[in-house]
Amino acid sequence: QVIKCKAAVAWAAGEPLKIEEVEVAPPQAMEVRIKIHYTALCHTDLYFWEAKGQTPLFPRILGHEAAGVVESVGEGVTDLKEGDTVLPVFTGECGECRHCKSEESNMCDLLRINTDRGVMISDGKSRFSINGKPIYHFVGTSTFSEYTVTHVGSLAKINPEAPLDKVCILSCGVSTGMGATLNVAKPKKGSSVAIFGLGGVGLAAAEGARIAGASRIIGIDLNSDRFEKAKLFGVTEFINPLDYKKPIQEVIAEKTDGGVDYSIECTGNVKAMIQAFESCHDGWGVAVLVGVPHSDAVFATSPVNFLNERTLKGTFFGNYKPRTDLPGLVELYMDKKLELEKFITHEVSFADINKAFDYMIKGESLRCVINVIGN
Ligand code: NAD
Ligand code: ZN
Repeated sequence: QVIKCKAAVAWAAGEPLKIEEVEVAPPQAMEVRIKIHYTALCHTDLYFWEAKGQTPLFPRILGHEAAGVVESVGEGVTDLKEGDTVLPVFTGECGECRHCKSEESNMCDLLRINTDRGVMISDGKSRFSINGKPIYHFVGTSTFSEYTVTHVGSLAKINPEAPLDKVCILSCGVSTGMGATLNVAKPKKGSSVAIFGLGGVGLAAAEGARIAGASRIIGIDLNSDRFEKAKLFGVTEFINPLDYKKPIQEVIAEKTDGGVDYSIECTGNVKAMIQAFESCHDGWGVAVLVGVPHSDAVFATSPVNFLNERTLKGTFFGNYKPRTDLPGLVELYMDKKLELEKFITHEVSFADINKAFDYMIKGESLRCVINVIGN
């Protein structure tokens, strides 16, 4: 049974989304149709909407940070049923491949992030259409819609008591940033950590550094308006590269007796990625890349920076396995050990979804939650 509902469709690069009536086909084998309650905007949605440094694919339903409830399940789906509360995740977990079985990796062979695919894996078709014309999916989630269809492996079943207007931001940004620090950088107590980019993801990385007991957390951003808010996330010092004539690597080296112990890049800008790496101390420094770069970006640094015993890493979704690990992060919030409210700076109705884009472009928001269920 096809569902007719509202979705925010991106018709062309950079054009405001339009709320349209779309048809959502029933879930096929190993798929689930869910009703989205709340969704939030992440910078990755904005990149693929702008399509400046990314492959353009339109018309498309964007959105990947969300929470909802299962409406129906396709053939072969046994671990979810109608009424279950779920968080969709852009990088899934089939549970069976080498990656899902490895303790190190969350890069599932079947369901790992694929930003250029706009169709379902099983039959190469879209489940969305308008008057028979297909509308493309985005990273297997497409949450800017009242109903969406995903692979069962892209859904984490969570505590049904969880407030979905809050835990929706665990579906990408907050988990990604916290995990980049706690699971990938793994800072030692008392260490120094530099965070490049103090948006939702970067401040979640800062929160991870605070939890790990870092003694200095240095925030670097081109937007000084970020600094006041960042204090709430344990950031102890601020650097705006625009205030300096010399390379920011040198500024950081001077402030930290040769460099930071760890640095986490959450900007998506390749220059900042190189700066983050080169700001690490030789002998032990570790840098973690989180930002999504332009598709043609190249990371250039002297190999000597590696010979001098620095390590460069990268991560999707903070190395969390979505189905295995997300329910536990939701419980941390329920037990008041993780604060999500401070990330949520704005909330808008579904009809006002374009405002969420404006807030992010202007650098005003950390996370703007979009109320889909209330319309
Ligand atoms: P955001 O727009 O809220 O924050 C980005 C911040 O970086 C802004 O404050 C901006 O002023 C700052 N910035 C930009 N260029 C900079 C530079 N050259 N130097 C210093 N600061 C700079 O975005 P967000 O939602 O927090 O996302 C951050 C990045 O993380 C994006 O690239 C996004 O695509 C990426 N991301 C990656 C994953 C993953 O799994 N790896 C998941 C989610 C988001
Ligand atoms: Zn995201």
